[in-house]
Amino acid sequence: MNILFAASEIFPYAKSGGLADVAYSLPQDLRTKTNVYTIMPLYKTIDRFKYEIEYQGKSFDIWLDGTRHQIDIFVQKENQFELFLYNPILCDREGMYYDSFGGFGDNALRFGLFSYAIIEIIFQLNLKIDAIHINDWQTALVALLAKTRYFLTQKIIFTIHNMAYQGVFPKKVMDELELSWAECFKNDRLEYFDNVNFLKAGIFYSDKVTTVSPSYASEIQTPLFGHTLEKILIANNYKLSGILNGLGFDVFDPATDKDIFQKFDAKSYELKQKNKIKLLKELGLKGSEKPLFVFIGRFTEQKGINLIIESLHLIEKLDINFVILGSGEGYYNHIFSNLIGKYANIHITVGFDEAYSRRLYASCDFLVMPSKFEPCGLNQMITMRYGAFPIVAYTGGLKDSVMDFTDTDNYSKKIGLGIVYKEHTIFWYMFAITKAISLYANKSRFEKLAIHNMNVDNSWKRSSKEYLKLYK
Ligand code: ADP
Repeated sequence: MNILFAASEIFPYAKSGGLADVAYSLPQDLRTKTNVYTIMPLYKTIDRFKYEIEYQGKSFDIWLDGTRHQIDIFVQKENQFELFLYNPILCDREGMYYDSFGGFGDNALRFGLFSYAIIEIIFQLNLKIDAIHINDWQTALVALLAKTRYFLTQKIIFTIHNMAYQGVFPKKVMDELELSWAECFKNDRLEYFDNVNFLKAGIFYSDKVTTVSPSYASEIQTPLFGHTLEKILIANNYKLSGILNGLGFDVFDPATDKDIFQKFDAKSYELKQKNKIKLLKELGLKGSEKPLFVFIGRFTEQKGINLIIESLHLIEKLDINFVILGSGEGYYNHIFSNLIGKYANIHITVGFDEAYSRRLYASCDFLVMPSKFEPCGLNQMITMRYGAFPIVAYTGGLKDSVMDFTDTDNYSKKIGLGIVYKEHTIFWYMFAITKAISLYANKSRFEKLAIHNMNVDNSWKRSSKEYLKLYK
């Protein structure tokens, strides 16, 4: 089988969150069983020389609303299945989707163009493709174009990584993108409160829709998690399923991670402490015998940032260290920037730093994820792989991948352990932190469970089989 896998970001070339990790590691695992082409924009921030990305020799034009858009095809030198598309409107930006002023005003054109080009490349390179796997709103129009304009015979699989981002634009983009008003501008398809909604079109026009965990697949069919599209999802639930994301075990491996100070594995777990000691020293935090908690993630309501902020004055009084790394909405960036240096046991960095995040995973004892909703979440899996404990809210993919350590005596290798709390309130969040501290006080039990987590198999092994079945 030949699959074309399209995403707006793929690790290590461009990453803003979990989509990039998945768009790297799922195709990589699938490639051991079938042919997978990946395709993404060649953003100007991608270092073409470092990654050996070369012009393939072919360019083509897409005409939209009387304007010619040239698309240049690039490939990775060592792996001709990794394709990149360059077009100045799509790629020449500071940031992928937004800058400090907000979302780019022409995102509909940028990702509409990308969607046209994903289909065009099949013809331009004469690829034999059986199925096209698209991801999130940025590639959702591929489904609409495949069914209403190109009449492709290939099946379309659409994966939703987060219902909160839907790609909603004013209806004038219908003409800019030459979409059929009669066919597409309908309430069950692209139309959305007299605007257009790319995600909604992806749901309607795809042959299969998946989301990134079984729990989230159920949750999004309810008003609390459907972000206004719950009825559309219910109407299309005959083709909807949830497949839990896996983790790229080669990318996230403390035994080989180049960014960490001291490599370690489950057999040499005690070496992890060296990372912690070094990190605390660098950050000016005291007490390597105290538990180290971290938060790594986007500063947005979804991630429970309000609880993090509200609890800082309580965390300050505890005998623990807490390190925060994140960036996101301007409002939260501002709050956290103002809190830097305010507490002796809390260290804050506002920014996105892959290498530093690895050092935090390699040093921490606990990672907090007080998410309001979480389609899957990868942080909890990375945390386990690096010999630590996730503290998670009981929602979405966190439900499917973390079990509270007090809820089981059966430490089978299948179950990742952590601390799970059920209500999004400061009381229960702090209760979970307290529970973590008391677990840490029992050092031998803590270490046994941390090592257990390192041996849990959260790789793509199981889930990539499910995707393969879906393609077939
Ligand atoms: P998201 O909802 O952001 O996709 P996931 O848990 O699925 O959340 O994936 C988040 C990924 O992004 C993880 O690999 C995590 O380590 C990384 N990440 C998030 N924020 C940062 C940051 N500020 N710096 C470095 N890496 C980050």
